[in-house]
Amino acid sequence: MGRRRLFWQLFPSFVAITALSLLAVSTLTTHVVRTSFRERAVADMRRSAGVIASDFESWFPGEAPADARDAACRGMAHRLGFRLTVVAPDGTVLGDSDGDSATLENHAGREELRAALAGRSATAVRESRTVGHQLIYHAAPVLRDGRPVVALRLAVSAAVVDAELAAIRTRIVLSALVVAMLAAAVSLWISRRLSRPLEQLRRVAERFAAGDLGHRSPRATTREIAELAETMDAMAAQIGDRIRTAERQRDELEAVFAGMIEGVLLIDARQRIAGLNQAGADLLGVPSAGAEGRSVPEALRHAALQRFIERTAGEEAAAACEADLELPGADGGTVHLRVHGVRLERPGEPPRTLIVMHDVTRMRRLENVRQEFVANVSHELKTPVTSIKGFVETLRDGALDNPADARRFLDIVARQADRLQAIIEDLLCLSRLEQGTGETSREMGVYPVAAVLTAAVQTCQPHADARGTILSVDCDPALRAHLDPPLLEQALVNLIENAIKYNDAGTRVTVSAREQGVAVRLAVADDGRGIEARHLPRLFERFYRVDRARSRQEGGTGLGLAIVKHIALFHGGEADVRSAPGGGSEFTLTLPRRPATDRPG
Ligand code: ADP
Repeated sequence: MGRRRLFWQLFPSFVAITALSLLAVSTLTTHVVRTSFRERAVADMRRSAGVIASDFESWFPGEAPADARDAACRGMAHRLGFRLTVVAPDGTVLGDSDGDSATLENHAGREELRAALAGRSATAVRESRTVGHQLIYHAAPVLRDGRPVVALRLAVSAAVVDAELAAIRTRIVLSALVVAMLAAAVSLWISRRLSRPLEQLRRVAERFAAGDLGHRSPRATTREIAELAETMDAMAAQIGDRIRTAERQRDELEAVFAGMIEGVLLIDARQRIAGLNQAGADLLGVPSAGAEGRSVPEALRHAALQRFIERTAGEEAAAACEADLELPGADGGTVHLRVHGVRLERPGEPPRTLIVMHDVTRMRRLENVRQEFVANVSHELKTPVTSIKGFVETLRDGALDNPADARRFLDIVARQADRLQAIIEDLLCLSRLEQGTGETSREMGVYPVAAVLTAAVQTCQPHADARGTILSVDCDPALRAHLDPPLLEQALVNLIENAIKYNDAGTRVTVSAREQGVAVRLAVADDGRGIEARHLPRLFERFYRVDRARSRQEGGTGLGLAIVKHIALFHGGEADVRSAPGGGSEFTLTLPRRPATDRPG
């Protein structure tokens, strides 16, 4: 259905109503005026008929010839302003103002004359056969002794009456036209006044729709339109607020989404990626840019993950799925993922699937290290405990009675107990270092390095002397560094002890320290047997030994170098080794000279 503008609905209607009203009014007026004119003419004729009837004999020469009668009629008609005809009771025309009565036919058949000759006045409107156009007739009897002696008939042309009417009608039509034009102008003004504010509101609504919600409607003078404008403005303000809130929430959500360390993957009902954050892209090894819109099998080539997504999509809404997946990592290793999936359903929207991926690779690795460590500790502790238990049982079963055996066995038990104690002390020391708390951190400060080196060498000197190892110190006495002296001494003692233990008599061990940029480099170097390259990467691991039997024989716990590494880490530095079979070994500790807070960068 064609839609017309309000203006074009209002204006023509107003004009049509006005025109119809004016037409009706002018038609009615014309009709009323014509009727009243004719009635007035009839009334005039009736009055005139009455007047001339009363002294009929005085002006009408009844016995005179026809032209005299006609002349008398003409004279009277001239005075009255009507045509006048005098008719005898038998219908014969006795005199006529406009014609020749001698030639006129018998008028007995004329209806008004029939009535007049019967004694009643009558009126008729008719085409005159005598004059040839419409006339209004009025006939009245002239009564003598109650009997009509003649009938007087007055007539006036309807055209004369209508001519007067025409003059008035022209004025009526002109007035109607003026009124119609005025009404049209007023209609135009009203139509404009009604349609313009609506037009303005439409433009405002279009601006709202285009996103310009800050725009406000112009002031309207009509109450309904003003209220509509206010409602629209309020609606726009409310929508604006909602949009701002939604945008803020979306931005926050996007920031959270992007900043999450968990990988988040959103999949639509058609198995296409609807969202993937950076962490998710990193975990799955796909570029996050451009991932959206791609299908899952095409973008993610991980069968296990796809199966998990399909399973989640098939689950009941709100029922979460969980699984542990292993994916090939970018570095060739394996990425362990703990994945949670949930089907998101909203009324009227196709369901989507949300997958959250936690990278548990590090946790798994730590778990493995922990399990391995517990196994190692158990194994390390088991040997001395088994040995102690065995010898105690032997003693209880009778060996006590043999003092020589008893003493030997008790020596062994004591040695194993020492070993147990050494392992436990080293483990406790490592644990304290790892936690970085307690007594380990009490003595951090800036101290001369040479004093620590000398103290360590002095501690090891008796052992070195006993094994024929030559110890020397090489350090600038002015060199100072930020360190924990007892801890660093322990690290150096461990390294010097190793150099003594694992090398032959005559080995030279140099304990040195020198400045190296912002760090201080401490080294314990020997010219002993050295270590094969394949052992070096694992040398600082707990319980790692190159020669297990020799270590045990030397009373080693396998934790010495692990403690050294952790002391270096505790100082914010690192431990390293350089060694070659037959070429001696050099263990180094590189520590920052100043506390972390003092150091630039
Ligand atoms: P342990 O308690 O067995 O000495 P460490 O962690 O201190 O444990 O040392 C690990 C292994 O490194 C030792 O078993 C030893 O074989 C080797 N090692 C350490 N220092 C030296 C060195 N200076 N020369 C040769 N081998 C060494």
